[in-house]
Amino acid sequence: MSEGHPSPTPRVERPTLRVTIVTDDRVVYDGLADRVSAPATLGMITVLPHHVCLITTLEPGELIVKWEGEAKYYAISGGFLEVRDDEVTILGDTVERAEEIDVARAEAARQRAEALVHTARERPEYLAGLQALQRSRARLKVAQRVRR
Ligand code: ATP
Repeated sequence: MSEGHPSPTPRVERPTLRVTIVTDDRVVYDGLADRVSAPATLGMITVLPHHVCLITTLEPGELIVKWEGEAKYYAISGGFLEVRDDEVTILGDTVERAEEIDVARAEAARQRAEALVHTARERPEYLAGLQALQRSRARLKVAQRVRR
């Protein structure tokens, strides 16, 4: 044992996730996170460090990235999520940060989609109307996170 100098306290690295959120035309987030919640097709999932490998499709909904006590909120219209070795990769059809969402546009889209869903039940546009309704509802919900 050496004398005089106390041995340095070993640095314990906190387990973290490396998260990338991309669409076909931009990188929306590329950084660290303590946890990520996403609207998987079978329900909302939360990924923490040391999560098992996973690939899932995503539905329209809310993505939440938490890092050092702060949460960032995104609307996603669908896509894929992969977890591997603490790396989370999200490929979104469209993704908007909560601050970017045009609420009037999302509200207009919601009203159009609701009208379509009510009048087109027997027509091929019905499914498109339901999907548009999910996208607009997700955007409106996420927008509220930063506009209270
Ligand atoms: P809309 O009928 O208003 O175009 P939509 O659901 O058909 O809505 P998308 O096709 O999902 O729109 O998206 C087209 C592009 O517009 C994407 O880049 C998406 O990020 C962006 N976008 C759609 N709605 C909004 C919104 N309310 N605020 C900001 N960006 C939006």
